[in-house]
Amino acid sequence: MDSLQTQVLSAIDEERGALVRLADDLRDHPEVGYQEHYAAARLTAFLRERGFQVQFPYGGVDTAFRAQVGADRPTIALIAEYDALPEIGHGCGHNLIAGSAVGAALGAAAVISQLEGSVAVIGTPAEEILYQTPGKVLLLRAGAFSDIDAALEFHPWTATGLLSKDRALVSLNISFHGRPAHAAADPWNGINALDGVLLTFNAINALRQHIKPEARIHGNITHGGEVPNVIHAFAAAQIIVRAEDRRYLFEELLPKVENCARGASIATGAQVEIVRTSEIDSTLNNSVLAGLLEQAARDCGVPFGEPVELGASTDFGNLSRAVPAAGFMVDIGLPPGTPWHSRDVAQAAGGPGGHRAMLDAARIMALAVVELLRRPELVQQAHAAFQSASK
Ligand SMILES: [Zn+2]
Repeated sequence: MDSLQTQVLSAIDEERGALVRLADDLRDHPEVGYQEHYAAARLTAFLRERGFQVQFPYGGVDTAFRAQVGADRPTIALIAEYDALPEIGHGCGHNLIAGSAVGAALGAAAVISQLEGSVAVIGTPAEEILYQTPGKVLLLRAGAFSDIDAALEFHPWTATGLLSKDRALVSLNISFHGRPAHAAADPWNGINALDGVLLTFNAINALRQHIKPEARIHGNITHGGEVPNVIHAFAAAQIIVRAEDRRYLFEELLPKVENCARGASIATGAQVEIVRTSEIDSTLNNSVLAGLLEQAARDCGVPFGEPVELGASTDFGNLSRAVPAAGFMVDIGLPPGTPWHSRDVAQAAGGPGGHRAMLDAARIMALAVVELLRRPELVQQAHAAFQSASK
């Protein structure tokens, strides 16, 4: 540990109490995607008080923000999330993601005058709403990351290691348009849209035997007709299709799933309409950035274990396909196998295990940022790795 690194870690240590209070405050005020007004205001006020230049709202998204210190490029982004789940609150621990990004930024800010470039906390709302349009996708469309050279993000988990094996995802709205008739007097004059939805689910269930084991297909009926004595003129479902390999997802699996709905349309005579509401990419962890995080984790005394196979999906994947990016998890003290998106997680996200993970993650990211900004060739190497991985 050299003197710059020591300064960084002691700056985070000095703010430890404030960071824990910040994360706990967010946990105690859970807000769902795009409603994170309290969290975004609290985070931006915290960073403004500490000398960061704040843009809020940011990228045309009401609850997004950007808070920056330093000058010019390279600019390293620390990604904050802070949306919660309906009913459960912070059952994904995003309050800790926000706290770690802020903590890492404070560490880097303490030595920024001795470095080249700048560090930005980017507050990205609505990560949980993957079946609509999540925050990072909106921000990417708005060009909010166009001047970012590298991005880092921590996510709480039941293990410590680099993020691996998440899934690309496509969300479909499938609706059927039939024709109403009396369900008993003249059903032969009707076309049943609900049968279109039911046959779609049954066809997908038949398809399951023939999909790759890592693929996932799941959905719900969003509209199942109005009353039982009228043939249903309209019915709709929401179906999510996921796979680790985006090419398999888009080129093989998705056409088959969509054909299930088209077949149901032929069988029933109901017109089908298929709309892709969301496309989430799998994460491309940048090898250079991942190496820096790994080294920083060792330096902080919390070495990474095996890469963490997430299985789920995140809009961080979309970000990772736009700029060099790396994500990692730190264990919040829950036994492996604890259900995620649960009240257990929400509790741990406000307890000692969550606080420890958040502060460790802040230290790890701060040390990685300092390496990037004092050795600009690393930023170039990360960019080169990004280019070759994107081919
Ligand atoms: Zn999450």
